[in-house]
Amino acid sequence: MPSVNFDEVSKYISLPDDARELLEKPERELRVTMSLRLDAALMQTDVYVVYYNTARGPAKGGIRFWPTVTMDHTIELAEKMVWKTALVGIPFGGGKSGIKLDATKFTRMQKTSILKEYVHVLRPDLMSGRYVPAPDMGTGGADMAVIFGETHLAESVTGKPPRVGGLPGRLEATGRGLSTCVRAGARQFLGCELDGLKVAIQGFGNVGSWCSHFVDGYGAKVVAVSDISGGLHADSGLDVQKLIDWAASGKLLADYPEYDKISNADLLGMKVDILVPAATENVLTAESASAVAARIIVEGANGPTTAEADAVFNDRGIPVLPDILANSGGVIASYVEWRQAKSGALTSREETFETVDELVLAAFDRVNGFAESKGTTPRVAARCLSVEEVVKSMSDRGWV
Ligand code: NAD
Repeated sequence: MPSVNFDEVSKYISLPDDARELLEKPERELRVTMSLRLDAALMQTDVYVVYYNTARGPAKGGIRFWPTVTMDHTIELAEKMVWKTALVGIPFGGGKSGIKLDATKFTRMQKTSILKEYVHVLRPDLMSGRYVPAPDMGTGGADMAVIFGETHLAESVTGKPPRVGGLPGRLEATGRGLSTCVRAGARQFLGCELDGLKVAIQGFGNVGSWCSHFVDGYGAKVVAVSDISGGLHADSGLDVQKLIDWAASGKLLADYPEYDKISNADLLGMKVDILVPAATENVLTAESASAVAARIIVEGANGPTTAEADAVFNDRGIPVLPDILANSGGVIASYVEWRQAKSGALTSREETFETVDELVLAAFDRVNGFAESKGTTPRVAARCLSVEEVVKSMSDRGWV
């Protein structure tokens, strides 16, 4: 089942039956039993590769190297990439890969062998540019460098380390785009700048910590943050940089010696101006949504709000800026890296941020313009704009 409710979307945009039929299922699903010898042992594992829709360009989406990946979840994640890339207007479709293994159980050399075999399986698609992978859970820059080492094509993969054709600012890009969305959300829905506004951020990994860094810089008061171990609260504002250094040294927030200790549930229900769920999916349920006391929600994680929670927020008049808009900074930076690789030009960190800000803000304006004119939520507006864009591209290509 696609995550987008096409019946709902059809109330606002034209969605011809043939286009809907194409969008209801992935364009391509590939399941491969990958077999290789690691040291002395023979190992077999499932690899899932999905190109959900490529009307707008190559399938773009990360490689999840995780023991619980399934084909169904890989399809869901690939679908989300279709809407995200379409919404911000970058020339990609949506894809995803899953390698059903626990990345932490392998040595660097073993992981390299697995990735080389993955490239072997997908070589024609990687060399032709049909699919452009990136890091996801369980993979990082060093793994993308292995893929580059196999293809010798810088544009065949993004999320590479900056010294190996990667992009300055890629690491920070999702948090950067998210903070830009937080700032734009305050202007749009609260009619003010971020100065002094209280922000609570769930999740203090890549996305949450960089978002806290940037919103702190924009003058907001980050009053609560959390990770899997629990959270910290200070009504006068946390020293974000100290907490980032703490987390970067591999320590948990629950062990931090200062500030009030809170649970993740406390954080979600905190009386703040802006709540940023930036940890994981389905944390805002019907129950936790009723306790939310924030004035705006900006989704940093993928799918943090269940459909039931969304209905609660809608009834309570709390605007939710959806993931496909708010966390699109990472894929925008991937686009800049791909463009840099194709042109051979160099890009500075500031230019990366400029492009992220520009595309996120343009999409933000389109989403809010649509939501206001049609009297719907930002989430429905974002879905409508994305679907409309993909349908038009499929029509341009003669697919429908
Ligand atoms: P990460 O692994 O770097 O950090 C995750 C953080 O969330 C950690 O602090 C972890 O302790 C915390 N966490 C995990 N489960 C939790 C729970 N149940 N309750 C509270 N805290 C919990 O991951 P990340 O890269 O920051 O990604 C976070 C989310 O953003 C994910 O949903 C991811 O799919 C999404 N996302 C990430 C990027 C990116 O560029 N990294 C881009 C788009 C979307």
